[in-house]
Amino acid sequence: MATDTSASSSQTATETAAPKRKRWKSRAVSRTVDAGNSAYCAVCDELIKFRARIRAEQIICNVYVKNRWDRVEHYHPECYEEAGSPYGEPKG
Ligand SMILES: [Zn+2]
Repeated sequence: MATDTSASSSQTATETAAPKRKRWKSRAVSRTVDAGNSAYCAVCDELIKFRARIRAEQIICNVYVKNRWDRVEHYHPECYEEAGSPYGEPKG
């Protein structure tokens, strides 16, 4: 992706590019499920249950719409993967 547009660009741009602003991107993190967790998976609509025996994980996504924080979504890790990781690789 090395398109060089610097050469002979005498044209005046009618539309100036938007000023550089911080872009809020939806992101996903992986967290262990706490006891008393009451979040429902955004894919299967099931409660993401705390299990004492295993270290259950959940994917928590901060979803931004039009550069503004919109909502938090919770997922079972397997559901999130099945959905094609809509908000990217979850960070630990
Ligand atoms: Zn699920």
